[in-house]
Amino acid sequence: MELAHRYAALLTVPDGMLREAPAEEFSSVQKSELELQAHWFAGDFGSSFLTATTGERVEVVQFGVWNHDAGPDFTEAAVRFPDRPDAPVLRGSIELDTRAEDWERHGHGGNAAFDDVVLHLYLQHGPRQPFTRTSQHRQVAQVHLDLRQLEHRVAPVDLPSARPGRCSGPLRERSAEEVRTLLTAAAQYRLQLKNRRWQRLAAVRGYDQALFQSLAVTLGYKENKLPFALLAQRLPLKTLRAEGDGGMALLLGLAGFLQTPEFSVDQDGREARAYLRERWEFWWRRRSAMERLVLPTKAWKLSGLRPVNHPQRRLAALVQLAARWPEVQALIDGGGNDLAKQVTKFLTGLRDPFWDHHYTLTSARSARPLALVGAARASEMLANVFFPLAIAAHPVHWDAYAKLPAGTGSRRVATAATRLFGHDPAGAEPWLKTAAHQQGLLQIYEDFCLEDDSDCARCTFPERVCRFAFVRG
Ligand code: SF4
Repeated sequence: MELAHRYAALLTVPDGMLREAPAEEFSSVQKSELELQAHWFAGDFGSSFLTATTGERVEVVQFGVWNHDAGPDFTEAAVRFPDRPDAPVLRGSIELDTRAEDWERHGHGGNAAFDDVVLHLYLQHGPRQPFTRTSQHRQVAQVHLDLRQLEHRVAPVDLPSARPGRCSGPLRERSAEEVRTLLTAAAQYRLQLKNRRWQRLAAVRGYDQALFQSLAVTLGYKENKLPFALLAQRLPLKTLRAEGDGGMALLLGLAGFLQTPEFSVDQDGREARAYLRERWEFWWRRRSAMERLVLPTKAWKLSGLRPVNHPQRRLAALVQLAARWPEVQALIDGGGNDLAKQVTKFLTGLRDPFWDHHYTLTSARSARPLALVGAARASEMLANVFFPLAIAAHPVHWDAYAKLPAGTGSRRVATAATRLFGHDPAGAEPWLKTAAHQQGLLQIYEDFCLEDDSDCARCTFPERVCRFAFVRG
């Protein structure tokens, strides 16, 4: 028993031996990753005097947009490295991990979605300092954040995904008529740009194929635009129409959704099994000739999608559009004043006996009928394809376009609204109601916010607004 008191003495740290706890011991367990992100975004770790693990200084010029979806934590950010020649500003994303090793553990190093990361933040690392590399083998600067900076700080709550910009004040002071004029001008400019891109595509691919590709891209919106564009190129409209009933099997095969005859079909998936067998039978006879065109699995982003928006269902919609192509052409040529109504009726009326009741190739039958193209998608297709084409041919369609209600909106629209109008929802709300105003917002955001690398300081938009011709000269 006499040793016990010695051990008790060992547990008592004499005065003067009190040790400062290393940052790692302010366990990150006390803070969730979300809280840490909130602290970072609120600037609690600072922005100007960060030091990379290599010793070079790092300055955060723009905190970017807090991304709550898949992908890096903060997108559209900008950082500067004052010690490098010419102190370049790098635009890209920022990732914050609790541990440095999480970069590899979470597969970011092999994920192309993380290729534009310019800064990797972390709180702890193991015995060895791991490197951060992208799938392109580019080394990413690392900053080891010090948790002690957060002592006694409470994570900010309800932070919006973006910060208001310098122009948010001046814009709010403008009259509603002036803001409407500005956004309408930007939306019309955007339409012109779209139209020029469209003309170039049509000159290379032909009118029908260009239209088909554009519609395919809107079906891939927003996570899978690229694979849809590639599929529309690899199985062009003419070929798809010529294949008739085999078209869907070819599209599924080229998409990489028919890699094996062994599918694990949901229980009670008799109908799915029969559908798959038929498509597989068609595909495997053509597979060797088309093998090199098959998209890799990683081309698709499937996480975070609503089941009803699964790309397999959207491919079925593309097949329907090809099959009913003369009706698609007639809508653009003869939609007249009713363009919005007619296009919506046509698109939301597309049917497919299998996909009207299945979320994916392997899911069991849904008792509830599922729309192949929902109203929100139809509205996006109207705003991005049908109206721009119709307005280019007959500018009078602008009046109907200007009244087109906005779709569900996107994170980028919300970001643009906060940047330009500030946190107060009432400021931006009137300008989020129509597709045209949202397009105008996006144009300003892309032309100025995305080009700015000075956290608004050198952006000339606020000054340019003062010189804008609000009244017709
Ligand atoms: S970058 Fe320019 S346009 Fe964007 S929020 Fe800042 S001042 Fe406004």
